[in-house]
Amino acid sequence: MALLDILHFPDQRLRQKAQSVEHIDEKIGQIVADMLATMYHFSGIGLAAIQVNIKKSIIVMDLSQEKNQPECFINLKILEKKGKHKAEEGCLSVPGIYEQVNRAEWIKYEALNEKGEKIQGEVDGLTAICLQHELDHLNGKLFTDYVSALKLQRARRQLQKEAKNN
Ligand code: ZN
Repeated sequence: MALLDILHFPDQRLRQKAQSVEHIDEKIGQIVADMLATMYHFSGIGLAAIQVNIKKSIIVMDLSQEKNQPECFINLKILEKKGKHKAEEGCLSVPGIYEQVNRAEWIKYEALNEKGEKIQGEVDGLTAICLQHELDHLNGKLFTDYVSALKLQRARRQLQKEAKNN
């Protein structure tokens, strides 16, 4: 396992779009393992491949308290959305910034797991928010796109200040 570098806002590579995974092989398994290690290392609850500069439709997630329930979503598709839910979101690519974002409350999805098996689910709450957030990454979108320009400016200044201090 290796730790991967996470791209940070406003890096333009975060605007790249992911491509579907055609074959789930050892290489993909390695990417999934590395993404999980990276997500855990930085105390994230989800990570999309675009965030580590890999243009493949791969998402990892672990919403458990104990951090012992890793999940993997390859070629995730949201089939149905219902309701509206506003909640605070953060992102490993936009460290230190937390903003309220509107998402669908409930989603129905399908994807493949790391073994190439088809998985389907109907989820709400944090799982639904997280999957929508990560799927946005794979389409080159960031949660900051939903935030006002003023708040973004403040966020950007904050990030620059932190970069200088490091
Ligand atoms: Zn994110």
